[in-house]
Amino acid sequence: MAILFGIDIGGTTVKMGVLDLEGNIIDKWEIKTRKEEDGKYILPDIAKSLLEYLEEKKIPYEEVKGIGFGVPGPVSDNVVKKCVNLGWDVLDVKEEFRKLIPFETKIVAGNDANVAAYGELKKGQKGLSSAVMFTLGTGVGGGVIIDGKPIDGKGGAAGELGHLHITNNYNFKCNCGLTGCLETIASATGIINIAKILLIQNPDSILDIDNLNGKVIFDAAEKGDRVAVQVVNELANALGLAASIVSVTLNPECFIIGGGLSKSGKFILDLIEKYYHQYAFHACADTKFYIAKLGNDCGMVGAALLTQL
Ligand code: ZN
Repeated sequence: MAILFGIDIGGTTVKMGVLDLEGNIIDKWEIKTRKEEDGKYILPDIAKSLLEYLEEKKIPYEEVKGIGFGVPGPVSDNVVKKCVNLGWDVLDVKEEFRKLIPFETKIVAGNDANVAAYGELKKGQKGLSSAVMFTLGTGVGGGVIIDGKPIDGKGGAAGELGHLHITNNYNFKCNCGLTGCLETIASATGIINIAKILLIQNPDSILDIDNLNGKVIFDAAEKGDRVAVQVVNELANALGLAASIVSVTLNPECFIIGGGLSKSGKFILDLIEKYYHQYAFHACADTKFYIAKLGNDCGMVGAALLTQL
């Protein structure tokens, strides 16, 4: 049976998936991301795990029709430009991985958020050909798919939507070194920082300043806690503004909201849409908003299906 590998490389674990040609997951497992010595063991570890799997399952090499990678950094033309999370400098993932396996197959690499958006569009929101996805986790990832294809841009930075400058009201420093980035507001890190400021002025909240995370803030907001509601509104406002800027740049069919902070579903989606409509240009006003459906698997699915593009 023809198979694909979809490999989602994260800062702590590598998610390895075996999929059929339609992107259905047959098998999946995780290995540890060994970042020591500038991440030089990461690709060899993946190759070893992949070859062990083929041997164990007695799958002939010619059945492997593609190996796709999602990498947490800017990627252009299969080349990672620099990936601080993994310790990589410029690295040609396709060429390096080719040297590590004893057979020929199609190898592709893309930015993890772009790859995730591709997986979500192909398997989660079928029938659409363009989408912009915001992944709300510790940071904010952005993925752009136009006419069925992920957009990398010249330096691999297309879709780095977490670094859209959307506010001058807060001075939180972003991981990129700037301030005002979407990620400094619309992420778990961002809402914890905002909650801390508001809690000092409003000690009557049910939130505990020493025990804050994305989930407790969203739970409190759904219960109507005034501080939590304000924090979640800051996040929704930032995302609505960011989406409105993106909508007049790319005019996608839809926006997809994924990641841990999207788990409150309709609650957060309605708020983001409310703010979006305050900012959006009239011709973009009917752009749809959806919650991602594939969860943590969308990176693996997108990476695998990218080999079939
Ligand atoms: Zn930034």
